[in-house]
Amino acid sequence: MVQQSESESRKLLGRLREEMALEGAGQERLDRITHLIADSMATEVCSVYLFRDNETLELCATEGLNPEAVHQTRMRLGEGLVGRVAKTRRVVNTANAPQEHGFRYMPETGEEVFSSFLGVPIQRVGQALGVLVVQSKEAREYSGDELYALEVVAMVLAEMAELGAFLGEGDALAPLHQRAISFDGGVGQEGNAEGNVFLHDPRVVVTNPIGENPEAERDRLRSAVDALRVSVDEMLRTADGGDSEELQVLETYRMFANSKGWMRRMEEDIARGLSAEAAVEKEQSAARARMSSLTDAYLRERLQDLDDLSNRLLRQLTGQGRETGAEMPDNPVLVARNIGPGDLLEYGRGLKGVVLEEGSVGSHAAIIARAWAIPLIVNAKGITNEALNGDEILIDGDRGRVHLRPDEPVTAAFRDKLAMQAKAQERYGSIRDLPAQAKCGTTVRLDMNAGLMVDLPSLAGSGAEGVGLFRTELQFLIRNKMPQRGELAQIYRRVLNAAGNKRVVFRTLDIGSDKVLPYMKPQEEPNPALGWRAIRVGLDKRGVMRMQLQALIRACAGQPLWVMFPFIAQFDEFRDARQQLLDEMEREERLGHELPSELHIGAMLETPSMAFAPRQFYEMADFISIGGNDLKQFFFAADRENERVRKRYDTLNVSFLSLIEQIVWRCADTKTPLSFCGEDAGRPVEAICLAAMGLQALSMRPASIGPVKHLIRKTNLEELRDLIDEARRAGEQSVRTQVMDWLRSGDWVV
Ligand code: PEP
Ligand code: MG
Repeated sequence: MVQQSESESRKLLGRLREEMALEGAGQERLDRITHLIADSMATEVCSVYLFRDNETLELCATEGLNPEAVHQTRMRLGEGLVGRVAKTRRVVNTANAPQEHGFRYMPETGEEVFSSFLGVPIQRVGQALGVLVVQSKEAREYSGDELYALEVVAMVLAEMAELGAFLGEGDALAPLHQRAISFDGGVGQEGNAEGNVFLHDPRVVVTNPIGENPEAERDRLRSAVDALRVSVDEMLRTADGGDSEELQVLETYRMFANSKGWMRRMEEDIARGLSAEAAVEKEQSAARARMSSLTDAYLRERLQDLDDLSNRLLRQLTGQGRETGAEMPDNPVLVARNIGPGDLLEYGRGLKGVVLEEGSVGSHAAIIARAWAIPLIVNAKGITNEALNGDEILIDGDRGRVHLRPDEPVTAAFRDKLAMQAKAQERYGSIRDLPAQAKCGTTVRLDMNAGLMVDLPSLAGSGAEGVGLFRTELQFLIRNKMPQRGELAQIYRRVLNAAGNKRVVFRTLDIGSDKVLPYMKPQEEPNPALGWRAIRVGLDKRGVMRMQLQALIRACAGQPLWVMFPFIAQFDEFRDARQQLLDEMEREERLGHELPSELHIGAMLETPSMAFAPRQFYEMADFISIGGNDLKQFFFAADRENERVRKRYDTLNVSFLSLIEQIVWRCADTKTPLSFCGEDAGRPVEAICLAAMGLQALSMRPASIGPVKHLIRKTNLEELRDLIDEARRAGEQSVRTQVMDWLRSGDWVV
């Protein structure tokens, strides 16, 4: 059987290769190819359908159907049998097409006379480009060998499309990597950037999908796989022997690299006429297709390993990719499937922006992008397939849109917008050293959020009064080992030195949920955001918390120490954590270490329960900071990481503002200083509303200080409060419309 299909597909591929060598315009080539396939497979019809846009397929060439239908017949994704193949990326092979569920009759093609239908997706490493179809009058199912041959041809067609072989006949035939295209994603960090693509893990372009000499191709594959195995063994050898998790991951990785099944399948494909790299890519496509239908996280991870190995193998075979050291362009915008904090930090601050195919708003990469104040777009589906090193790229981080290879008018409009924003920046610079004093006389303290040493220079530049939230977990997250006490104390001391005499509020380790330490065993929890995280871990793993508290005490010897505990959900947790800190102070004193000159112990209010905590909690806390990101997610029961529900609930919703008001009252009652350090503090409209509700301190990303201060200085908070109260009385769900109308009626531009 294999023998027969080998010769079938080899024969067909041989003819295709000759075809590829011939000159000719795109359409002409496509027409000849459909003719060639129909002829070789002795079937009456062969047609190529390509995506016109993400949702529409167009008949682009046919042998056997009505030629008038070419570029006329279109169908939506999922419509008819062709649409079904495109949507499911699965083969449809039927002897009686009209009887098939979903069959759609298209009179213009005259296809009703054809009973048999075999459709295979034209795809490139998991990305659908179109559908290749053969049909015949005779009611028969196509054989497995014929199916195999057609699949291989579809793959070669995908590669040819990629290389521009069909270029010149309108958009539908335009290859990937040349047209202007936009992507919508989530905003991990606002801002705009214009630059050129720099791929974190460049994709490989296969230029020779058809192998001339199977033996030679097999030898190439074998030596590339040998080299790959050696490099994986080398990774294992240099891996940290003490870290069993890392070793485990690498062991599984090696198991795949040595998999006999993987090798056998690739060698079979070579025997059937593919080049070594096309064979690797075919396996990779299959793995990606399986991956997209899997829900089991463990299996998905394993297939991800296979995907990674295929990439390495492709780079080995083609000599393309990261190892070849592509030059970083002048204005690099990093494009990656996903990226960890370590890799991102290695690129440094020269990056103009980052676009991720996956990732999430709260990921480590997002935190670093925020610290660097460079725009980050997450969830830009498909971008790594489209982008090539050096491509022009625009990031519109206000809307979450990325323009790749933009047309002239798009670039012009974008530049106008940048120019306007630059003017605004000048304005912010001029008020940098002025207080955030509102028209009514109230002054709001503006602090910045930080987490890495690289953030500290922004303290002077932004005009922030201090660091209102120092996320200490970042120092833990970017390492592959638990940091030691001495090392931490040194880092904290450097932070304090960099801050001069400005206040830095250290938040103790907030891990769990989306922040998983690479060197801690991950917990299998059904709802990690509601699970074992932050202070819950701190109180259960006392050793780690004690070590961190000792490091903080030592770092602050002779200076004020400001500490706050994250995610307090009931009074006891705060009392307990506070006591631990006091115990550590005593211990340090006993050991003869110099103590901090002042001690301020605060709590983060991130769960609605604490708005109703006993009065004693408010009395005991030296200060309270509202963690609005978490507070909002728990108040509305809407996952802050879930793009679908995240934006559904407005921060200016009257219920949420009333909760804030309740906390303001509670703190006023006990004279407990209160601040707000969630992302909303950095959004000017939200910030003035929070201030109007009574918040006198806001902590935000450094880049937000200017815009927030600008708007506060233009606002009469008392008038704004009246407006909010009026909207609440009127039964509005959110006060946003009223606030925006009010701002527009003033003499400033928001
Ligand atoms: C918050 O929840 O608002 C907060 C500041 O903490 P994080 O974003 O680190 O959870
Ligand atoms: Mg939080």
